[in-house]
Parts: sequence; structure tokens; C-alpha cells
Amino acid sequence: MNMETVLSIIVPCMNEERSLDTLCKQLFEVLSEIEGAHEVIFVDDGSTDGTVSEVKRLSRTHPGIRLIEFSRNFGKEAALSAGLDAANGEASILMDADLQHPPKFILELYQAWRDGGEIVYGVRTDRSSDGFVRRQLSNAFYKMLRYLGETPIPENAGDYRLIDRKAVDAIKEIRERNRFMKGIYTWVGFRTIALPLNISKRIHGESAFSFRKLFDFALDGVTAFSNKPLRVAGYTGALVAVLAVVYGLFEAARTLIFGVEVPGFTTIIVAVTLLGGIQMIFLGVIGEYIGRVYTEVKGRPIYIIRKSSEFDE
Ligand code: UDP
Ligand code: MG
Repeated sequence: MNMETVLSIIVPCMNEERSLDTLCKQLFEVLSEIEGAHEVIFVDDGSTDGTVSEVKRLSRTHPGIRLIEFSRNFGKEAALSAGLDAANGEASILMDADLQHPPKFILELYQAWRDGGEIVYGVRTDRSSDGFVRRQLSNAFYKMLRYLGETPIPENAGDYRLIDRKAVDAIKEIRERNRFMKGIYTWVGFRTIALPLNISKRIHGESAFSFRKLFDFALDGVTAFSNKPLRVAGYTGALVAVLAVVYGLFEAARTLIFGVEVPGFTTIIVAVTLLGGIQMIFLGVIGEYIGRVYTEVKGRPIYIIRKSSEFDE
């Protein structure tokens, strides 16, 4: 790029060939209203459909398109990271390819950035495009995260956001493998502005995030930003130990006063199974953290690029 790039639009794509045409039409129309040079970076996250050739086709009619192809599917968070790593803009905007993030909103993000916001994001005012159960679970998750975490993560904050160069550089420093981006944005700080945003329904296909995936995502979020589960394990252990001592003293006193009493089979079984259960749960908690330490220690790259292309004539 010879001219200074103002905005980098980063679009993670997995099997989005049908959305890209409409997206580009709307996106470039909006971009033409903003002064300066812009780039649109599509990150192909291991699509198995024609996403790559669709981006190449669109690049013939739209200037400033770049394409990063992953060697396989690494997940949306990795795709966003790759986009941020590659972005040249004074600000980067992250948006979904499926048109759930209306391109027009870029104008609002841009204005808020001009007004001094360093991270500007859309807050979902209406979640009716998600099902009832998903909405409830999502609420519960953010409540829990706020209770557990040292970094309070704003509720209903979407992935549609603008990030200033300074914040992009800060985020690029964070190379942890467990990429809970919503936490990372909050963690780096900076002047943050939230704007109301209506999320529309997906135009083609299905959300890639099943409940199972969302559950894993939640677990990543908790373990990445809180050590409290480990502390809870310790406290529970201490509490059980105290109870055991008290009960032991009580039994000893009773034996001294009333003599040996044989029955007590149920008590023993209950105690053994209960304690066994608690121990297993907390071993599991510790295991979650150890597994993550292992992943981090291996230090593998967050994503692998097959090919990066720029289509400037
Ligand atoms: N996406 C991706 N990799 C994945 C899953 C999704 O790059 O493994 C992209 C997808 O193409 C879309 C965005 O991330 O542009 C949001 O995905 P989706 O619409 O499935 O999620 P939801 O809107 O339900 O959060
Ligand atoms: Mg979507």
C-alpha cells in the first residue's frame, strides 16, 4: 500500500461463498463514503466451499481486497487474530461475513473512533435472532464470568468492533493459544465506547456455533480469565476437612460416654462416595487448567497460513 490505509476491515469466513457477493456490494458502498484508502482482509478459515474463488472473483471488481487462506479450520478467534496481525490500517474493524453485522454500522464505528474511542463495539440491544435457550445460557455465562473473573467482560458485547492501531498493537502482543477474544479486548484496556446495534438474522446457512461449541467457548472464557475455580477447590477441601474433624470429635466423645456402637455402615458409604465425588470434580477442574498450561507451553502458532494474496493491480 502506498497511500496510508485508514481502515482495515477484517472478515473471518468459513463456508460463506453465498454471502460474500452481497456483503461486498454493501461494504464497498459504505467504504466509499469514508475518506482515505481502505483494505478488506478476508480470512478464509478452512472453507470447504468456494469461498476462496469467490473472494478472488470479487477482488477483480473491488479494489483493496486481501485474502489470507488458512491451511485448515482454526476457528473464528484465530481468524480474527490473523486479520489483526496482517492489518495496515489506522483502525481495524472486525465483522462477520454472514451480514448479521450490517455494513452501515461502520459509519457509526468510524465516527465514534474519530470522536476519540480506541475500542468501539456494538452492544446487542435485541437478541431475538438467538433462540430463547441460547439467550438464557448466554446471560448466565456473563453473570458467572463477572462473578469469577478479574476482568469484567461486558454483557451482550458483540464481535462487531473497531480497534484503533494502538490497541491492535497491544492485542498482537498477546499470543496465548486460548484465544477468548472478548476477554482480551477488555484486558488491554483503552478508551472504550459501546454503541447500540441490532443484529439481524443470518442470510444464508447456519451458525457454526452449536451449544457444545458454545459450552467449550464458555469454559475457555472462564479458565482464561479466572483462577477462582482452583481457589474454590481449595476452600471446599478445607471446609470438608473441618467438618470431618468436628464429626470425629463428636464421635469420639459419644464413644467415651456411651461406649462402642457398631452400626454406621450408611454413614461410611455416604462419606466415601461423597468425598470421592468431590475429589473427582476438583481433579477435573485442575485438569482443565493443566491441559491449558500444556497447550500454552507447547507454544504452537495460533494459525497456519497456506497463502496470502493481495490483488492490487
Ligand atoms: N467463522 C470462522 N470460523 C469458524 C466459524 C465461524 O471464521 O470456525 C466465521 C463465519 O464465517 C462468520 C463468523 O465467523 O463470518 C461468525 O460465524 P457464525 O455466523 O457461524 O456465528 P454466530 O453469528 O452464530 O455467532
Ligand atoms: Mg452469524
